[in-house]
Amino acid sequence: MYELAKFGYRESDKGIYRQGFTEADWQARHWITDHFQRCGLHTHMDGAGNVCGRYGPQDKPAILIGSHLDSVPAGGIFDGTLGVIAGLECVRIIQEQDIPLQYPIEIIATSEEEGRFGGMLGAQALSGSLTLDWLENAKDPTGETLKQAMAARGLDYHEALHAKRNPEDVKAFIELHIEQGPVLEASKKTIGVVEGISGVFKWLIKFLGKADHAGTAPMDLRSDAFMGLADFAHEIKRIIDENGTDKSRLTIGRVDLKPGYAHTVPGEADFTLVGRDMSEQVMRDLADSCRKALSAIARRHRLMFEYEQMSWLEPKSCSQHVMDVIEQTTQELGYSYQLMPSGAGHDAQFFTDITPTGMIFIPSVGGVSHAPDEWSHWVDVEKGCNVLLNSLLRLQTTL
Ligand SMILES: [Zn+2]
Repeated sequence: MYELAKFGYRESDKGIYRQGFTEADWQARHWITDHFQRCGLHTHMDGAGNVCGRYGPQDKPAILIGSHLDSVPAGGIFDGTLGVIAGLECVRIIQEQDIPLQYPIEIIATSEEEGRFGGMLGAQALSGSLTLDWLENAKDPTGETLKQAMAARGLDYHEALHAKRNPEDVKAFIELHIEQGPVLEASKKTIGVVEGISGVFKWLIKFLGKADHAGTAPMDLRSDAFMGLADFAHEIKRIIDENGTDKSRLTIGRVDLKPGYAHTVPGEADFTLVGRDMSEQVMRDLADSCRKALSAIARRHRLMFEYEQMSWLEPKSCSQHVMDVIEQTTQELGYSYQLMPSGAGHDAQFFTDITPTGMIFIPSVGGVSHAPDEWSHWVDVEKGCNVLLNSLLRLQTTL
């Protein structure tokens, strides 16, 4: 883990800067390729930049394990890399103990999971959910295109479409990952058995009122866009109580008031709303209820309201069988655990489309992730690896 963390490390803030297709990302990919080969894995890089290493019988469908090697800017050392290094450790132990395999185990270090270009390129390529149109138009926030970034690493973007795996060639996928949230630490549990990845929708909302002089406009004659936004923020708890579940989340993450001057009544409030749940019906109910609340609030404050849905991703369920295997394995090892959804997106969500998929979480200290002080205790890392290894072995005989 520490060796991999050298790629993209910056002393100034102690963060990892290893975004997809950067020099640091490419060095890390060469490093992992080298380690896969030294372990005797059949290793190749596919057209999307995923590094794949296979161990065991080569003519049978494989059990896939892995996660991503790229990071967000100023990220931590565990996010993604844990799942790759743990996979390599599992294969080393299987080799050392000469455990026979019915199905090969293939470790995949996926590419560009953190969305520099707005998707999860590696996992989407493997699951066949990429389109030529998206590949040709994807850009990062600086305007560099995905095509250019891939070409700079010697990859032809068309080849990403050929990285697709046939469901018949894959038996299952398991990803070990840090939780990136505070739940396991708060409940003093070691292992999270992930039930699925929450669906998520993102709206851009605009309240339009009237900008007025903050001294001369009487309180009862204003069309104050911020007051509408504030009322809506207060409605969120009620909306979840009435229409949501304990897995529902509604977040206003960005607010822009115009004209944005201390002595002017804000005539316009632009803000984002992101909603999540494990059930698509609940997501629809939450969205409906938000729409009604926004419209009632707009009337009350003499505002116009507009919204634009930027994205809607459906929830993805993990395989009941793989979850059972992880749960039984965790019980046998005597570790504490709980079932939980993943609020964050992961490579695993795309694998659910082609194969039985499971995820294992270990606790994140303080719930911190996507930051230089992201940390997980080594004792938990070890337990996570044990659950991964023993689940892999149990899957060998139960698939
Ligand atoms: Zn991750």
